[in-house]
This record gives sequence, structure tokens and C-alpha cells, in this order.
Amino acid sequence: MSARLLDGKAIAGEITAALGDKVRTLGIRPGLAVVLVGEDPASKIYTANKAKKAQQLGYASWLITLPGDASETVVLREVERLAADPQVHGILVQFPLPKHIAADRIVDAIPPGKDVDGFHPLNAGLLTLRRPGFVPCTPSGVLELLRRTGEPLAGKNALVIGRSHLVGKPMVQLLEQQDCTVTLAHSKTRDLDAFVGRADIVVAAIGRPLAIQGEWIRAGAIVIDVGINRLADGRVVGDVEFAGAEKRASWITPVPGGVGPMTIAMLMANTLTAATR
Ligand code: NAP
Repeated sequence: MSARLLDGKAIAGEITAALGDKVRTLGIRPGLAVVLVGEDPASKIYTANKAKKAQQLGYASWLITLPGDASETVVLREVERLAADPQVHGILVQFPLPKHIAADRIVDAIPPGKDVDGFHPLNAGLLTLRRPGFVPCTPSGVLELLRRTGEPLAGKNALVIGRSHLVGKPMVQLLEQQDCTVTLAHSKTRDLDAFVGRADIVVAAIGRPLAIQGEWIRAGAIVIDVGINRLADGRVVGDVEFAGAEKRASWITPVPGGVGPMTIAMLMANTLTAATR
């Protein structure tokens, strides 16, 4: 068996094209402010891509870069300025932040209605309670990819590997809301291969190259690889050993070109929602 590719780049392209059409039809200008603190090379690429996509769709977009030694107060003031600006509908502060800045304080300063990343505690709580709010972009992009397989999700055994607040935990909630039976694995999980072998859906959000071996995958499973890992030779790979997994899965996402573009598409969708509210 050879898996069908879940082409996140193509699907994200369809989603963002529809958003661009909607913006033109509604005659509005959603505004997205992206804040980058420091010089992390990966974060620089991610923030530039987000700001660029917003511009392409006819959004107003601001990329605010602060030096890596900017104090927490300086970052907070910037967030507060954006919070008060009526042209800014969505605020995204790129993570990770430098260690001297308390990420929680920065997230708490973003008004929940402008929290298009869905990280504010209010939005996290709303997700838990199944009430409308902003859902973090990466897990909601993963859910959209799962929907695009056309496979019924209810009753499936879903395994989420990684329990970060940004990806793994909200992913568990979204899958549970689709009536999957969800297992959450992490670095202390024993016999991970056995859990993988029982899963109909595997979402790997670990950040370790090739942590999930292809031969562990259950025949016919759907494999979503969230991981982005840069190897010493410059190649970017996911958390799953693609060549082996592809032989056993029914559907699989590539890295790059799988979950990454979907994350940006969901950010654009959330920003339009924020602007129309
Ligand atoms: P994170 O905060 O570092 O969390 C990683 C999680 O993986 C932790 O819960 C950790 O467990 C778990 N883990 C580590 N080693 C493990 C192992 N050997 N077996 C099982 N679980 C293990 O990372 P994150 O922010 O969630 O990101 C995860 C990956 O996704 C990274 O590669 C990141 O770059 C990527 N990412 C991609 C996108 C995208 O748009 N494609 C967006 C966000 C993140 P403990 O909790 O026990 O430490």
C-alpha cells in the first residue's frame, strides 16, 4: 500500500484564495500585526511568510521586529499599542520568545478578540468548553487536513504525540470533539510504538527528527506530521520516518508542504473572523 499525499500546500492555497475573494466581496481590510522578538532564523522565516500571505490576500499587515534584548516591558507596550489600534484585528507574537520574557504575560496582554493564534487563556478555556473562540492555528489546520481525507472521524483511535499548549493539547480537544477516542503521548510515555500501532490517526508534534518509525504505523492509518526539524545538512524533515510510514498509511502529510501552510491559512481565516466580528 502506498499512502495518498495530504497536500497541505494545495489545500491551504484553496482556502486562502477563498478568503481573498471574501475580503474583496465584503470590501473590508482585515489587519494582522505580527511581532517578532530576536533573530531566530526559523522564526524570521515564519513571521515573514505570515505577513506576506496577509498582504497577498489584501489584508493590512505589519511585521514588528524587536531586538532580542528588548525588555518584557517594551514587548508588553508594543502589544498594548496594537491592542488599542482599531486597524489591527489580529495580533500574533511569534514563539519562542527570548528566555528573559515571560510568555504568559505577553499572551495575557493580547485582547482575546484579537488573539488570532488562540493562545490566550480565555480562548483555551472556550475551546475546552466547546464554545466559540479562536482555536490555535496548527491544530485547526490539522483538523482541516483530516476532514479533507473524507474519512469519517467518529470512533477512530487517534494518537496525539506531544502535549504543548500550542499544538498537542488543543489537538486532543479538537479530535475529542470529532468523537475520536484520543490518546495523548509525551516524552514519558512507555512503549510508544505499541500506541502508534493501535492508532487509526497519528498526529506527531514532537520536534525530533524521525522519532516515529514507519514500521510502527498501523496499516491504513492517517499520519499527520506536525514536526519541523532542520538537519545538519540543511534538509527539513518531520517527526515521522516518511519513507516507511508512506508504505503503510492510507494518507500522509509531507514535510515541508503539509501542516505548515495550513497553519498560515488558519491564521488568515482567524484574522478575517476577527475583522468581521
Ligand atoms: P514542544 O513545546 O517542544 O513540545 C514537544 C512535545 O513532544 C512535548 O510534549 C514532549 O513531551 C514531546 N516529546 C518530546 N520527545 C518525545 C518523545 N521521544 N516521544 C514522545 N513525545 C516526545 O513543541 P511544539 O511547539 O508542540 O512543536 C512540536 C513540533 O511541531 C516542532 O517540531 C515544531 O517546530 C513543530 N511545529 C510546526 C508547526 C507547523 O505549522 N507545521 C507549528 C507549530 C509547531 P514532554 O511534555 O514530556 O516534554
